[in-house]
Amino acid sequence: MQQEDTISAIATAGGEAGIGIVRISGRTALSVADRIFRAKNGKRLSDMESHRAVYGTVADDEGRPVDEAMALIMRSPHSYTKEDVVELQCHGGRLVLRQVLSLTYCAGARPAERGEFTKRAFLNGRLDLSQAQAVMDVIQAKTDSALRAAEGNLSGKFSAKIREMRNEILGVIAHLEALIDFPEEDVDDISLEDARKTVAGLADRLRKLLQTAHAGQILREGLMTAIIGRPNVGKSSLLNMLLRTERAIVTDIPGTTRDSIEEYADIGGVPLRIIDTAGIRATEDKVERIGVEKSREYAEQAALLLVLFDGSQELSTEDEEILALLEGKQAILLVNKSDLPQKVDPGILRQRFPDFPVLPISTKAENGLESLQKAILDKVYTTGCDEEETTLVRDEREAHLLRRVLEHLNEAINAMDGSMDADLVSIDLRSAWEILGELTGEMAGEDIIDEIFSRFCIGK
Ligand code: GDP
Repeated sequence: MQQEDTISAIATAGGEAGIGIVRISGRTALSVADRIFRAKNGKRLSDMESHRAVYGTVADDEGRPVDEAMALIMRSPHSYTKEDVVELQCHGGRLVLRQVLSLTYCAGARPAERGEFTKRAFLNGRLDLSQAQAVMDVIQAKTDSALRAAEGNLSGKFSAKIREMRNEILGVIAHLEALIDFPEEDVDDISLEDARKTVAGLADRLRKLLQTAHAGQILREGLMTAIIGRPNVGKSSLLNMLLRTERAIVTDIPGTTRDSIEEYADIGGVPLRIIDTAGIRATEDKVERIGVEKSREYAEQAALLLVLFDGSQELSTEDEEILALLEGKQAILLVNKSDLPQKVDPGILRQRFPDFPVLPISTKAENGLESLQKAILDKVYTTGCDEEETTLVRDEREAHLLRRVLEHLNEAINAMDGSMDADLVSIDLRSAWEILGELTGEMAGEDIIDEIFSRFCIGK
């Protein structure tokens, strides 16, 4: 069960903090830790039981102390990776943690690759592939709803559904193969009918699950949103209103300039990822043309457009040019400055653009946020999926695999309805069974698995 080599990494986030953890995992984790850690009670970690914490000092080979620490021992198989694991809880400074980490290397560990702890947990059967990915989703969740969905997947709800489907498919295959192997026996019409029902039921469940893919992906990645409109309509005021909610999350993307700050507004549990907030806030450029050009640029990148108008003024040529950008897009039209006497009639806009919600708002009086929130939720939780759903398809890879499974099931149903060639039906069902196994990882190729874990951070 334990991999040959022992790995180590800093498991806590960079920066200064009360504590920071260096995690060591593998066959020699305890002896690596013993070389650099002196317990106050004089005992060696290798001589201690699992799930003990001891106080002591991390020191180099010459005995020079580097930091005080608590060592946590988790013996195989009762650890995150199912291997022997030692966690050294040190002080949370960059330098001190780097020094402790390099001591673990001198003592025989090697640097962990991205996601390698979780990958070992997967390879050792503690988590399946869907659960392993959910680990990352829990860490990166931006809203309560996103966290709830990620926790649902981590606890294995999604995997359980997939396993159940695989088992049912296997049952039908076994039944069909008995027919193929013993064709001289009486064909049992009733049980064939049952098999068809089972497969049709499976296809139904798959379709329902696939309907969650839209919301699942948005909750995880954020809904790419652009606020567009000509200058002075209130774009930066709206942005500030959205980001002022206490739950808004701003994340720095490490290793990039300050331009790549990501801002997420939490709108009823939906993380809105607002494109180029710096550009929206820059108020120096009040030239109308620039407003239209910027709007065009953003409209191309965004999945959702919040289109602002100044309700206290007649629609201008620029407003009309921006309206012309909306064809084929997802948009919500916002008639702002509803606190002032109005010159724009939302009813007329509604008639002209029946596909888009048209809402009066006032960023100044902070009116209309609730109806905006509702309009956004309506776009995310479309048919067949509601906000309470916690088993969600998480990304395009899963959705793609599920769609392929559905195709095979439909083919199987067609074959059952038509020629009833048991061989053909069974081939499709086998394919469906195999593809479902790629979701849980039982059937996933090594390259796919490597690719998935390489998206994790180091130390996870
Ligand atoms: P932007 O150029 O589109 O980003 O617009 P701003 O957010 O900078 O707003 C332009 C002007 O309109 C500012 O003076 C705001 O105070 C004002 N403004 C924005 N929203 C409202 C509103 O709802 N009501 C009123 N009366 N004024 C607003």
